[in-house]
Amino acid sequence: MRRILALLCVVVCTLGGTLLVSGSAADAVADRAHKLHFSSIVLDTHDDTTQRLFSKSFDLGRRNPDGHIDIPRMREGGMNAIFFSIWIDGRIMRPPAVQKALDQIDAVHENVRTFSNDMVFARTAEDVRRAHAQGKIATLIGVEGGHMIGNDIRMVRIFGDLGVRYMTLSHFYNDEWADSSTDKPAHNGLTDYGKDIVREMNRQGIMVDISHVSDKTFYDALEISKAPLIASHSSCRALSNHPRNMTDQMIKDVAAKGGVIQINYHLAFLSQAFNDAQTALEGDIVKSSQERAKKCGDDPDCASLEQDRETRALISEGKLPHVSWEKIIEHIDHVVRLVGPDHVGLGSDFDGASMPEGMEDCSKLPKITEALLRKGYSEEDIRKILGENTLRLMEQVERVSRDLQAQR
Ligand SMILES: [Zn+2]
Repeated sequence: MRRILALLCVVVCTLGGTLLVSGSAADAVADRAHKLHFSSIVLDTHDDTTQRLFSKSFDLGRRNPDGHIDIPRMREGGMNAIFFSIWIDGRIMRPPAVQKALDQIDAVHENVRTFSNDMVFARTAEDVRRAHAQGKIATLIGVEGGHMIGNDIRMVRIFGDLGVRYMTLSHFYNDEWADSSTDKPAHNGLTDYGKDIVREMNRQGIMVDISHVSDKTFYDALEISKAPLIASHSSCRALSNHPRNMTDQMIKDVAAKGGVIQINYHLAFLSQAFNDAQTALEGDIVKSSQERAKKCGDDPDCASLEQDRETRALISEGKLPHVSWEKIIEHIDHVVRLVGPDHVGLGSDFDGASMPEGMEDCSKLPKITEALLRKGYSEEDIRKILGENTLRLMEQVERVSRDLQAQR
């Protein structure tokens, strides 16, 4: 009996000890991840929160019951640098497009003024580092679609003066000088005027963003641009075959010229199964988008929230599959395996897309740091992915701009 008791004790005590050790080791990783995350620059290159700034029910300064971004949740998630996206429907062109873009640029600046205890406007990588040292959220601007220059190259300079630090060459539709990845090709990539626009962006220190563009536009921009490119919110086509994502060869080509791919968390870009199921539901989705247009009119915040609700409903009805936030890690890891840790970053598409389960808003971002740490990534490489790669790219773009301006 005593021997049985002793044996039992060996089993239970050993098991208990093992549990205790693995429990404390797990806590040690969580602690390291927490310290690493909250001491890093966590820079997201694509957030559609700008649309929300026009909604009466939204307040950037308080915790909102919907959407993905506000100051309290950014603080909670350690997100301390953000590109607000300037976006209007790609079918709006010429002066109305310019006017609406300027309205949104003003709204971002005005919110930075209103919340100056928490936010500061940033134009350079050094500005972002200074904001971080001051404990403030660095606020930057990217223009999502070349249609917003109204086919006038002078707007590139004016946008640059207003603090725009990247411009996506097209959105879902072709603009007047660049083909989109989701439209029928009209220009065979970039027109000659489009190539001049890329050169002017280089001169102004505006990053050339190739998310949304057709593969041919991508290769034209890669050839023309004197500065490395950014894919501000795209994922990997090898993991989800969507034209908005990048092929392995494109990822290698961007990296070879020093560029950075910022992983987009949108369900269809992360998951092949979701993308396939959504494509199969296309008829239903077109119908609900027509109903949404009737309900929301030209209020993009309403349309975005409604679309998210519809997607969640289809998931809970079993018509679309569940997608875990861990897919984000798979896409990051795919890029790292292809080209190393210097060419990948975060470009969530928060407030512009439906998020995977576990990444419901920006407060969940520390999970990415912890997952990468558990996967064996070094602290230095994780800091690069969280923000340092984008800052290096910004510094390179700033250097090219200074060199080009000195030539004139
Ligand atoms: Zn987009």
